[in-house]
Amino acid sequence: MMNIAIDGPAGAGKSTIARKVAQKLSFIYADTGAMYRAMALYLHRRGISPEDGEAIAKTCMEPEISIEYQDGEQVVVLNGENVNSLLRTQEVSDMASRSSAVPQMRERLMELQRKLALEQNVVMDGRDIGTVVLPDAQVKIYLTASVGVRARRRYLELKEKGGDPDFATIEEEIAARDHRDMTREVAPLRQADDAVLVDSSDMSIEEVVSHIMTIISDRTGI
Ligand code: C5P
Repeated sequence: MMNIAIDGPAGAGKSTIARKVAQKLSFIYADTGAMYRAMALYLHRRGISPEDGEAIAKTCMEPEISIEYQDGEQVVVLNGENVNSLLRTQEVSDMASRSSAVPQMRERLMELQRKLALEQNVVMDGRDIGTVVLPDAQVKIYLTASVGVRARRRYLELKEKGGDPDFATIEEEIAARDHRDMTREVAPLRQADDAVLVDSSDMSIEEVVSHIMTIISDRTGI
């Protein structure tokens, strides 16, 4: 199977880019952040505190999480329920970022991720795909952008949805998430030694996609 890993910080455009690259290659797109978010939703519903590592380690063993594909779109199923539309709230983002530092939670989701990659050609995005989950992926991309650019993208996205976001708050939240993802003990966010760095700060989505397609074809001949 062909495995392509795309890692990077929050807001670098990973999911948009990975989805488009997968479409072009007719591969499955696997969004591992959504799996962490589904688990976070479960923890949140169970009333677990994001600070309570022990409760998270225990409770994350309870739910059944699976991934299905409908028209090429990933559907995350939590105990039989399609939860895709419930994963982008602030509470879930915050719980996902905090609970993802718990080793038991990472173990459980990694099993699911590796199984997917064994069975299908995938473009998988996350934080630790090239370093931990799929160390043998044929192509690894580390996609990043400056904090300011990522905050501006998020700001515009929220504004477009009719919100009244505060730029400084968004910038602070992104910096805090980066810090947590990069300094946690288990599987911190970092560029794999054999990953290609792509900085999307001054690139359009289409430019990034075509740049990554060139990297893939150079490395694999497809
Ligand atoms: O990518 P996304 O923002 O949806 O991920 C949600 C959270 O899940 C991140 O803040 C990160 O802490 C965690 N995550 C992770 N490892 C992954 C994917 C996501 O720790 N492979």
